Amino acid sequence: MSKILRVNMTDLTARFEDVPEKYRLTGGRGLTSSITCDEVPPTCHPLGPNNKITFAVGIVAGTSAPTSGRISIGGKSPLTGTIKETNSGGMAGQKLARLGLKAIIVEGQPKEKGKLWLLKVDKAGAQLQPADGFTSKGLYETYPMLFKKFSDKVAIIGIGTSGERLMSMAGICVNDPENRPSRYAGRGGMGAVMGSKGLKAIILDDAGGPGVPIANKEAFDAGRKKLVAALREHDITKPGGALNTTGTATLINVIDEAGALPTRNFSDGRFEGANKISGETLKETCEKRGGVGMVGHSCSPGCIIKCSNVYPRPDGTEHVSVQEYESIWALGANCGIDSLDATGELIRLCNDYGVDTIEAGVTIGVAMEAGLAKFGDSQKAIELMHEIGQGTPLGHILGSGAAATASTFGVVRCPTVKGQAMPAYEPRPIKGIGIIYATSTMGADHTAGYTIAPEILDIGGSVDKLVAEKSALARHFLHATAYLFDSTGHCLFISFAVLDNPSGLEGVVEECNGVLGTSWTVDDVLRMGGDIVKKERAFNKAAGFTSVDDRLPEFMKYEKLPPHNVAFDVPDTELDKTHDS
Ligand code: SF4
Repeated sequence: MSKILRVNMTDLTARFEDVPEKYRLTGGRGLTSSITCDEVPPTCHPLGPNNKITFAVGIVAGTSAPTSGRISIGGKSPLTGTIKETNSGGMAGQKLARLGLKAIIVEGQPKEKGKLWLLKVDKAGAQLQPADGFTSKGLYETYPMLFKKFSDKVAIIGIGTSGERLMSMAGICVNDPENRPSRYAGRGGMGAVMGSKGLKAIILDDAGGPGVPIANKEAFDAGRKKLVAALREHDITKPGGALNTTGTATLINVIDEAGALPTRNFSDGRFEGANKISGETLKETCEKRGGVGMVGHSCSPGCIIKCSNVYPRPDGTEHVSVQEYESIWALGANCGIDSLDATGELIRLCNDYGVDTIEAGVTIGVAMEAGLAKFGDSQKAIELMHEIGQGTPLGHILGSGAAATASTFGVVRCPTVKGQAMPAYEPRPIKGIGIIYATSTMGADHTAGYTIAPEILDIGGSVDKLVAEKSALARHFLHATAYLFDSTGHCLFISFAVLDNPSGLEGVVEECNGVLGTSWTVDDVLRMGGDIVKKERAFNKAAGFTSVDDRLPEFMKYEKLPPHNVAFDVPDTELDKTHDS
C-alpha cells in the first residue's frame, strides 16, 4: 500500500501517512495540484511558511511501462503567483515509486533562517540532516559529493545556489542515469520554493523498497505492449527516428522554416544561424568529435525513445548533457547566438547554478534588448549567467526572471504570460500555441498543450497554424495533457505516437487500469484531465487571477512578426471560450 511522506521543516519531523481515498486514483500533476488546492491558501506568499511543495510520482512510475519515469513537483509558484506543476525525467520518479511512496509533501520553514537540510529516504524511513558542507557550490561539485556520501545508486532531487538564494528562475535538478546534475523540473521557480523550505536535496535510496503493486497484471501487460508497439512504429519516436537521432533539436530547422523560431527577443521568426544550432548539426558534431559525444541517450531508465544527448568539447571530452530544443533556442536564437559550443556552455552554467534554461535564455534576451549586451555576444551572455550564479545585485534582478528584468530596465517587448517566459514557438504565426500560452493555468507553457503537433508537424491531424478559432483544440489538448501525460508519469514525447495511433492511446489507459484496478476508457481520462484543469483554475481565481490575465503580452498584438508579418489576432472572446465548457 503506497504512502505519503509528510515533512515538516519547522519542527524537523517526517511522518508517513496513508494515502487518502480521494488521492488513490491519481498521480503526478493530478496529485500535486489536488494537494496544493487542498492544503495551500491561494493568497499565501509562495516563499512563506504557508506554501507547500509536493513531489509526486505518476500512476505507472516504478513499473515497466515505457518512458514513464517522470516526477511532478508542485505548489504555488513565486514566478507566476499561480498554481504550478513542473516535471522532470531522471532517476527520481522510479525510485520514489519503488520506495512505496506516492508523494512527499514538504511544509513549514526552519526556525534557523538560512539553514539548509538534506532529506534521506530509504526503506527504513526518512531522516533530516544538516546540509553543512553541501551548500553554496555549483551542482557539478555538489552532486558527486552527495553520491560519495550516500552511494552512487541513489537518486538526488536538489537545488543550486539560485534556489538557495530564492531566485524565481530557480529549477529543481534530478540526476540522470550516469548521475549528472542535468535533468530539470525547471519551470516556475519551484527551486526557490524548495530553498524557502530550507531543503537543499532529497536523497532517495530504493534498495529493498516494496516496489509498485499491479492490481491487474493482464490489463497492464496488454496496455504496455500496445504503447511499446506504437512508440516503435512512429517516425518521431521509433528507434532511429527523429527524436532518437537528432533529439528535440530536430525542431530548430522545422520551426525556423515555419517562420516561428523566436529570434533576438521575439523580434523575428527566422534566425539566419538556425542551421548552425540545429539537431542535424548537433548530431554531426557528436559524430565528428567522437569521444563521449552521443545522441540517442536516455534520461531515465525504461525510456525507449531516448531523445537526450551528451555534447562533446572539440577534444571529445564531455561538455554538457543535454542540449535540447528549448535550451538551445532560448540561449541561442533568442539571444542571436549561433554556436552549439556557446549554447553548450550556457546550458552547463544553468545546470551548475540550478536555473531553468528557458527562463534564463529569455531573460538574457530581454537584457540584451535593454542594452546590457549585444545580441550574438556569447561571452557577455556567459558573464550575465555568472552574475546570476554568483548572486550579485544584477544577478538577483536577472535571476528573478524575464518579467522582472523587463520591468527593471523598461523593456516593452517582454515575452511572458502571467510572469513566465514563453518557450520556443512564436505564437503570432502559430495561433493555437498562443491560446495555450494565454490560457494555461501556469503561465506560458508549451507542455500544457502541445498543439504544435497538429499545427506544424501534421501529427494527430492537420490544422492551419494561422487560423485563430482554436479554443476547442486548445481545450482538448489542455485536458488531455493534464491526465494522460502529466498524471500518469509518461514523458510528453509519447504524445507523438499516441496522437497518431488510437491503440497506443488505449495502451496508456490500460496501463493505468492495470496498476489501479480500474476500468477507465479514454473518455474517462479526458474528463479527469478537465477536472484537474478546473481545480487549478479555481485556485488561481482564489489567488486573484481573472480572464484579463489569460492574455499574451500587448506588443504581440500590434507588432507584426517577420517573415509572415503577422500579429497575434486571436480575439479575447476566443481566448475566453477555451475554458467555457
Ligand atoms: S523521451 Fe527524452 S525527455 Fe522523454 S524520458 Fe526519454 S530521454 Fe527523457
